[in-house]
Amino acid sequence: MPNLSSRTETFTDSVIRRMTRISMQYGAVNLSQGFPDFDPPKALLDRLAAVSHEDFHQYSITWGAQNFREALAEKQSRFMARPIDPNREIVVTCGSTEAMMAAMMTAVDPGDKVIVFSPFYENYGADAILSGAEPIYVPLHPPAFNFDADELENAFRQNPKALILCNPSNPCGKVFTEDELRFIATLAERYDTFVITDEVYEHIVYAPHKHTYFASLPGMWERTISCSSLSKTYSITGWRLGYIIASPAIIENAKKVHDFLTVGAAAPLQEAAVTGLRFGDDYYRELAAVYTAKRDLFLRGLDDLRIAHTDPQGAYYVLLDVSEFGYADDLEFCEVLARDVGVGAVPGSSFFREPVNHLIRLHFAKRDDTLFDALNRLESLRQKIKPRK
Ligand code: GLN
Repeated sequence: MPNLSSRTETFTDSVIRRMTRISMQYGAVNLSQGFPDFDPPKALLDRLAAVSHEDFHQYSITWGAQNFREALAEKQSRFMARPIDPNREIVVTCGSTEAMMAAMMTAVDPGDKVIVFSPFYENYGADAILSGAEPIYVPLHPPAFNFDADELENAFRQNPKALILCNPSNPCGKVFTEDELRFIATLAERYDTFVITDEVYEHIVYAPHKHTYFASLPGMWERTISCSSLSKTYSITGWRLGYIIASPAIIENAKKVHDFLTVGAAAPLQEAAVTGLRFGDDYYRELAAVYTAKRDLFLRGLDDLRIAHTDPQGAYYVLLDVSEFGYADDLEFCEVLARDVGVGAVPGSSFFREPVNHLIRLHFAKRDDTLFDALNRLESLRQKIKPRK
């Protein structure tokens, strides 16, 4: 057999998704890969059932069904406070995973540099490799996960083509303040750089923190490629509905990339999801309230167990400090945790550029009884996992 491509040798399969398989193998409560175990809104399910008997079984328009783009444009115009053109400023993709990949391939040539904050969502590493880009990592410093202005400007001095901005951030839960975003915007302008955003947690933000759309900052519309999805907002991660919003000049090229990558997102699911896109503002307030209650429940439980953790401002992840167990390999720790304690987590090292192996990531997008089950299991953590010397 000839050699397989060298690009596939430089990264592993997703550790997040591997931990879901390991959790299933041990029957662990799976708090690794972030997805809910509660139902999507009933109105979406009812519409999905009805759609199966309607005429939506063939390809939709490659950059998204008209009906879906119109509903999305209406919703995002409301939240992003600028009119979005459904015909020229949207590409509908198979989840934001495809949106991010297509955005990278649209903006970046092989050999170009791309700024990535660390910790980062693991896909960005693979996205960079697959599009031939070279990441420049800029640390977000714990405990507040702030960036250092000089470190960031030094990265911009290396002539990057784009910066990837995950806001609210997975895994650290940071919600960038408007001042921080304006500082990034100044640098993006000064060094003539694109900003590719991943805003899938745009509606999961904890008061008093507020989400600011990067594209809505003065002068940023022309250089921002906004990626997001319906997965987290409507609890439909399996529907794989995402999108890119950007200026017509960018979208024209993104449409071509998307067309040859996947042709299009599933037509019946786009049609059913229109129901969600048409929800009023109450829906988003309720979603934030539900997640605020889950965050409070889960963090209180961790405090009772005396486990040190991050305090997320947005998204639904928490990083736990497990340094007391002395494991040199956090993947091994997560395997032992799934097997002996029965809780699935993601090793922190899969998110950090820096050599970090004392953190694990759990998520709390689960029913309250699932969260209580996980907390009950974690009670035996210190009996079941003995510290290593
Ligand atoms: N964003 C989710 C997480 O970080 C998972 C996304 C995925 O697996 N596609 O766990």
